[in-house]
Amino acid sequence: MEQVALNSVLKSSQALNQEIAEKSHVDVNKCYQCGTCAAGCPVAYLADYSPRQIVRMLQNGLVEDVLKSRMIWLCIGCGNCLSRCPRKIDVPHLNDTLRIVSKEKGFPPAEKSVDVFNDSFLKTVQYTGRLYEAGLTMLYNTRSGNFMSGMDVAPHMMKLGKISPFPHLIKGRGEVSRIFKKIQERKGGK
Ligand code: SF4
Ligand code: SF4
Repeated sequence: MEQVALNSVLKSSQALNQEIAEKSHVDVNKCYQCGTCAAGCPVAYLADYSPRQIVRMLQNGLVEDVLKSRMIWLCIGCGNCLSRCPRKIDVPHLNDTLRIVSKEKGFPPAEKSVDVFNDSFLKTVQYTGRLYEAGLTMLYNTRSGNFMSGMDVAPHMMKLGKISPFPHLIKGRGEVSRIFKKIQERKGGK
């Protein structure tokens, strides 16, 4: 097994760890590794690390490994871990922050399809002011190359009136668009 010199890892990752703590407002050092979060996480069996391990790795300064991990992309934000955590560690918000930092630092997303879905979702919200399911499906399918994804259920859902081929535009969508623009400006137009 590969040996890791934790003192030097902690030192070299200090700034990055600090940045994540400030952005997420989550103090991973409060975690005492009971494992309750991992036991209730619906996606842990698909991931490379459980939520408990992600928190432990951050405690030990293995930040780059966390930023490259599948787990941060697979988290669906269900909140099971947070609701059961005796230390109230907000793992869903931590994972949100880790995805943002991972993108900012240029790590290729370990789950490309989740990244494409996330971007496509935000694009539809930016232009219509709310979720536009049909637009999201078309955008995601085109960008991911997964052209038939969701096509088996789409006609049935349209028949039931659950989704519409046309977007429902909200009144204040100009304001929503401005929020997105401001965020892009803050990020330097990326
Ligand atoms: S449930 Fe909370 S305290 Fe327990 S391992 Fe998970 S994050 Fe840490
Ligand atoms: S919020 Fe994420 S990490 Fe927590 S239980 Fe749900 S999927 Fe797992």
